[in-house]
Amino acid sequence: NIKEPTNLNTIADEYFRLAYHGLRAKDKSFNAELVANLDPNLPLINIVPQDVGRVLLNMFTNAFYAVHQKQKIIGGDFKPRVEVSTKVIGKEVEVIVRDNGSGIPDAIKDKIMQPFFTTKPAGEGTGLGLSLSYDIIVKAHKGHINIDSKEGEGTAFVITLPLS
Ligand code: ADP
Ligand code: MG
Repeated sequence: NIKEPTNLNTIADEYFRLAYHGLRAKDKSFNAELVANLDPNLPLINIVPQDVGRVLLNMFTNAFYAVHQKQKIIGGDFKPRVEVSTKVIGKEVEVIVRDNGSGIPDAIKDKIMQPFFTTKPAGEGTGLGLSLSYDIIVKAHKGHINIDSKEGEGTAFVITLPLS
């Protein structure tokens, strides 16, 4: 897997829809508002597209799962919403994946990046997504992952990648 100049918006947009339709294929009644705020002036960045694509796919899958869970609890009054945004900040590209789903309880916040940590039932999650994301974003691409989450309100994952 080799780094190459990549349009991150294309990958983000593609996997955003893929994750949404993947969940809708399992539950036809699931509906969410999808918001994509992709910076049209985003430069190409030097990344391994397949690897960063896997990171985004996992974050979108997690986000749709979290709003789906909340919808199952609250019902029709809840409007699921997942947003992806890209923008340039200084010498970095910032990708934010935000949902208004179940949120992450404080008690498990320091565990979610660990390999095999999952709160999902067997078959629905391996617990490897975020630990793999850490390896790909932080170790292989010298970027960062920050998490802002409140139980019951939602979650934002902020990925930064250096501009090449
Ligand atoms: P998996 O999705 O297989 O459980 P991940 O490493 O992707 O593994 O995520 C680990 C755990 O982090 C999830 O099981 C869940 O508890 C929590 N988590 C991740 N993303 C979100 C999110 N957007 N909203 C709520 N919880 C999340
Ligand atoms: Mg996951």
